[in-house]
Amino acid sequence: MLAVFAVVIIALSVTLTVFSVKNDRLSESGAQAGEAYESLSEALGSEQSARAQEASSYQAQIDAQNKAHQSEKDALEQTIADLNRQISIKRAATTQPPVTQSPAVQTGTADLSGKTVYLTFDDGPSPRTPEILKILDQYGVKATFFVINGGKYNQYMKDIVNGGHSIALHSYSHNYSNIYASEENYFADLQKISDVVYEQTGVRSNLIRFPGGSSNTVSRKYSKGIMTRLTKEVAARGYVYFDWNVESGDAAGNRVSAQTIINNCRKVPRNNAVIVLMHDASPKKSTVEALPAVIEYYKKAGCKFAALTTSSPVVHQRVLN
Ligand SMILES: [Zn+2]
Repeated sequence: MLAVFAVVIIALSVTLTVFSVKNDRLSESGAQAGEAYESLSEALGSEQSARAQEASSYQAQIDAQNKAHQSEKDALEQTIADLNRQISIKRAATTQPPVTQSPAVQTGTADLSGKTVYLTFDDGPSPRTPEILKILDQYGVKATFFVINGGKYNQYMKDIVNGGHSIALHSYSHNYSNIYASEENYFADLQKISDVVYEQTGVRSNLIRFPGGSSNTVSRKYSKGIMTRLTKEVAARGYVYFDWNVESGDAAGNRVSAQTIINNCRKVPRNNAVIVLMHDASPKKSTVEALPAVIEYYKKAGCKFAALTTSSPVVHQRVLN
């Protein structure tokens, strides 16, 4: 009986042991499952944050692209505004007189259409007269010659007239000390050159230019106030006198370069009548050299050319004596 009891006890304890081992194993695998769950959720969490990161980096890329497009758009709008401004400036330039920095002078490639250029040559006729006439003829340009007594070259006066140019009176002697000593002297000298021109050409000219221009002050040395008196008196006698508003600069000396003359002729006044002072004289070789480029400049700028007549717009300088 006791033995049976002992066996039962043993069997029970064995069962218990087995159960407890099983139980240990069970709790062990439960812990493992917990760990797995933890690591799984950890992995899920990191994946979620990676996704979030990815999403925010996509958003940043989109933002950057939008920003780039916006600045591109701004730049394009700026360009369009600039182009529109340029168009309106160009439109204004074609419909309004060009605005210049200086009130008296405009230079460069300004639109000069609407202006008439009167090329004038003083102090001829001379050995240069045929050369000048040839160039004028080549370009179909009419000019004005304010002549003096040229001696044997006076024969060129009729070539001037036959070429369709204006012949005008400058002085017979071009001697300041004589012509500006008195009004009487001035008009006696003027009559002499008028007669020479009439003899040579059959033209009685009433267009004049004072030696040194109406603003000369050298005359003060010979007679105070004579230019004030002469400018009134010539008009009373039916003459029209012309000064100039473009100085070619060829009177500055006999070594003035053709390029300097060309550059000077580009300094055009606001006045629609552009009266250019040049010289027809033996030493003025560079004037002849410059002439084609001067004519071409005015032609390209849209100017017309004309010879002076009594109905041309006058350009008068300020009388200073
Ligand atoms: Zn002169």
